[in-house]
Amino acid sequence: MEENHRILFEPLQIGPKTTKNRFYQVPHCNGMGHRWPRTMAEMRGVKAEGGWGVICTEECSIHPTSDLTPATLMRLWDDSDLAVHELMIRKVHDQGALAGIQLVHNGQSVSNYLTRMAPMAPSATPTDTMNSTQARAMDKDDIKTLRRWFREAALRSRRAGYDIVYVYAAHGLMTLLYQFMLKRTNQRSDEYGGSLENRVRLVREVLEETKDAIGADCAVAFRFAVDELLGSEGMNVAEAEDIVGSLAEIPDLWDVNVADWSNDSLPSRFGTEGSQEDYVSFVKKLTTKPVVGVGRFTSPDTMVSQIKRGVLDLIGAARPSIADPFLPKKIEEGRSDEIRECIGCNMCTSGDYVAYPMRCTQNPTMGEEWRKGWHPEKIPAAKSNDSVLVVGGGPSGLEATLAVSNRGYDVTLAEASDQFGGRVARESSLPPLRQWNRVADYRTNLLSTRSNVNSFTQSKLDAAGVLEMGSAHVAIATGSSWRLDCVGSHHRFAPEIHAPMVVRPEDVMNGVTPKGPVMVFDDDHYYLGGSIAEHLASSGVEVVLVTPAAEVSGWTHFTLEYEHIQTRLRNLNVEIICNKGIGSIGDGYVELECVFTGKPRRVDVGAVVPVTSRSSDDNLYNELIKRQDEWADNGIKTVVRIGDCYVPGTIAQAVYGGHEYARSLEMPIDKDMPFRRENDFEVGKVWPEFPS
Ligand code: ADP
Ligand code: SF4
Repeated sequence: MEENHRILFEPLQIGPKTTKNRFYQVPHCNGMGHRWPRTMAEMRGVKAEGGWGVICTEECSIHPTSDLTPATLMRLWDDSDLAVHELMIRKVHDQGALAGIQLVHNGQSVSNYLTRMAPMAPSATPTDTMNSTQARAMDKDDIKTLRRWFREAALRSRRAGYDIVYVYAAHGLMTLLYQFMLKRTNQRSDEYGGSLENRVRLVREVLEETKDAIGADCAVAFRFAVDELLGSEGMNVAEAEDIVGSLAEIPDLWDVNVADWSNDSLPSRFGTEGSQEDYVSFVKKLTTKPVVGVGRFTSPDTMVSQIKRGVLDLIGAARPSIADPFLPKKIEEGRSDEIRECIGCNMCTSGDYVAYPMRCTQNPTMGEEWRKGWHPEKIPAAKSNDSVLVVGGGPSGLEATLAVSNRGYDVTLAEASDQFGGRVARESSLPPLRQWNRVADYRTNLLSTRSNVNSFTQSKLDAAGVLEMGSAHVAIATGSSWRLDCVGSHHRFAPEIHAPMVVRPEDVMNGVTPKGPVMVFDDDHYYLGGSIAEHLASSGVEVVLVTPAAEVSGWTHFTLEYEHIQTRLRNLNVEIICNKGIGSIGDGYVELECVFTGKPRRVDVGAVVPVTSRSSDDNLYNELIKRQDEWADNGIKTVVRIGDCYVPGTIAQAVYGGHEYARSLEMPIDKDMPFRRENDFEVGKVWPEFPS
């Protein structure tokens, strides 16, 4: 380990517990939770193996009135939930880490779709997650009952074996305790509303009662959002200082951040590493208790600086621990240059929103630790001395090359252009997406150290070239191209197009600035349409962003980018036109069509950039298939398409495809069912009778 990183490995006392180092995996959602418990537990266990001193759950509901169905978070409603927790705790303890649980009641931010119980809140209010349904105002009995639920959940958590139990008041309107603290959600006139002291009363009671219940055995952490970035309407520094000052020594640990979640897990296009420091740094001045905070920390020097300058005692991480579960071990072993740095794309947060096991753009093994037995640092050895050729050095080709080389095969990587990275290199040339190039950097850095890898740029291969190379296994990772004919989910047939008006998204990313005004037509609904519009508008071009959807960049709700994108586009004066398809593209104009009525609207523009769908660049693959009878004579056994060449998708999917190729090579994997399922059903179980 580098001498100056030693401080990161100093133990620290947290209440009655001691963590072995300063690496603290803060609570984070993962889309697995109670629904896929083995998947979740193995994922947490692997992180503990990777050296994190503390591993926490995601938020864990304490009662059926706090039901987030269809989301798949943790639950601790009664003893029948304990087995899931015990499984996770065992995995974490086996690796010498502490296990923490983030208990929550979500108040007005619930669905209760499963339980059909009435939502409740400090004051009567519409719920945040259901339409046309309200939360009722809690009376004094409700508050007393809620305190009992928290106490019982804390006792259950101790029984399960947790070391750290959270009282959670953060992430904006998502938590009931925070709803009590905020002026805009607490309009009570009793001793739980009005003055700051009154609004904090319930949090104080729950903290004290949790300490009283389990404080001798477990550390009690308080997670508190010190600023909602809403000025005086929301939590702000003035109130937060009073709150931290008044509760200073009650919890054993302060876990502090900013709200809402989109400001906490800030996407890299809107903020850098350590971006919360200015907001949270006051906390340590007001308490003697340890403080943990996050900031997408991936650089050990930045982490050291946070501790030495007295900003934080513990380096909190959700995303960096997802992108590289072995980040602490790599620092400990002096291998910091091997850290797989989070790119801040927030593909991981979509798992929570869309209720599927989380995936990570950088780490293809995330979520597959149990399901497929994929370990982030271990991979089965090569089954033969066969050689492998990978054609195309985009994210899938780079990952395939790296993982195949990790297995011990000799690999050749041929890339047509003068740099590796493919679409990632291109997309990250757009200023907002600059950090995404870490996908390529991480892999090219490691490949340059491998003696069993030969990699070449400016090496475009055709079928004859591939046959001539004579590698036993060939992976075609030649990517995809954006369509110019506007065909996508909205236009199943191409509209009439005056071709010279149309500019490829790739050309804009390669530095072409089309003649304005430019219409970006986005039928992809993720980040690229908005990013191109932002880039062109920042370069001084007049931009009209058109989409057939009801909103632009709609899928970015799930990656927490949505509101930031909307704000930025509007600040750049990008004109946004929704619910419109393209009737025709003429010379100097576009005839738009309302998606509902077909009503036309003419917009005069100099160019159109369609971001609709992509075609696989699979000519090379098809040529090789045609020449299959020549393979054996040239020593070729298999030719496979991977990544966008196989099917265009996200960068995460391309990386995953490359990794899967390497894991499958010469392995007896059942292609029809390549993963384990969690579909236990206990036949013969006897349930209690209902009253009759
Ligand atoms: P993916 O996302 O699947 O990795 P990309 O489009 O990012 O796909 O990358 C594909 C890469 O393949 C590009 O860098 C491209 O230059 C390269 N490529 C395409 N055709 C050939 C070829 N015939 N020989 C070598 N490289 C190629
Ligand atoms: Fe980071 Fe993106 Fe992976 Fe999330 S999905 S951990 S933001 S690289």
